Amino acid sequence: MKVTLLTHTPTPEKIVAAAARCCYSNDDPDKLLDEMTDEKAARFLQKLNDLGHQSPLEHVSFTFSISGVSRALLAQITRHRLASFSVRSQRYCGFEKSDFIKPPSIAKSEVNDIFDDSLSQSKSNYDELIDAGIAKEDARMVLPNASVTSMVLTMNARELLHFFSLRCCTRAQWEIRQLANEMVKLVKQAAPNIFQKAGAACDQLGYCPEGKFSCGKAPALDKILEVYNRNNSR
Ligand SMILES: Cc1cc2nc3c(=O)[nH]c(=O)nc-3n(C[C@H](O)[C@H](O)[C@H](O)COP(=O)(O)OP(=O)(O)OC[C@H]3O[C@@H](n4cnc5c(N)ncnc54)[C@H](O)[C@@H]3O)c2cc1C
Repeated sequence: MKVTLLTHTPTPEKIVAAAARCCYSNDDPDKLLDEMTDEKAARFLQKLNDLGHQSPLEHVSFTFSISGVSRALLAQITRHRLASFSVRSQRYCGFEKSDFIKPPSIAKSEVNDIFDDSLSQSKSNYDELIDAGIAKEDARMVLPNASVTSMVLTMNARELLHFFSLRCCTRAQWEIRQLANEMVKLVKQAAPNIFQKAGAACDQLGYCPEGKFSCGKAPALDKILEVYNRNNSR
């Protein structure tokens, strides 16, 4: 898997802070942006975070290059409807022998050969269909979820935080979790105040919303309330 941050809205933290300031100021937004310093932006972003005022985060977006991931990951990430995607086409692009993702659980297991045999068979069936004159758009039907793909992905900062809350969680599948964790590292460098708490839901909320599926890393909200009520009932 290779993930890079291709580009993002310039001065994202100042833009978000100026947009939020606009809600409470008689000054024009461009003046608010001109007067915005890094220190003021950091203070404002902290305030927004405390208030849970998230809509100003929609004014800044981040664009990633993602390659060496599976079509299984593609099926999951494209469920995030507020993101924009450009994905390598299986109708126009050919398929190489090495173009498969192998899950670590299989690579280190005794049944690794089953996986390798299955993928070789798929690949040779694909090649035979292509050699017989079948179009790529039809021949690809014999390719598995492990087939590799690449994409350009753009999300605004609010959607990124939402995506991280779901996909950095231990409940998420390993490959998309690995991707989300790589993206967290990149956006934290670009906008540390916006993404201060970026990560799984428990990192952002301070409690786990997963109920009986919780990994136990963070307490559930009802446990926090129980302790709070106990401490305040005297
Ligand atoms: C651990 C895990 C397991 C999963 N298992 C399955 C599964 O078994 N089967 C399956 O089908 N999916 C599964 N999913 C996918 C999941 O159901 C969501 O489709 C996916 O996570 C996208 O989430 P979202 O809709 O919140 O996000 P986005 O599409 O990124 O939307 C962000 C937010 O915008 C709002 N929004 C967006 N569109 C609308 C709309 N049309 N109407 C109202 N509000 C909207 C919602 O508040 C939403 O949370 C799984 C996801 C996870 C993390």
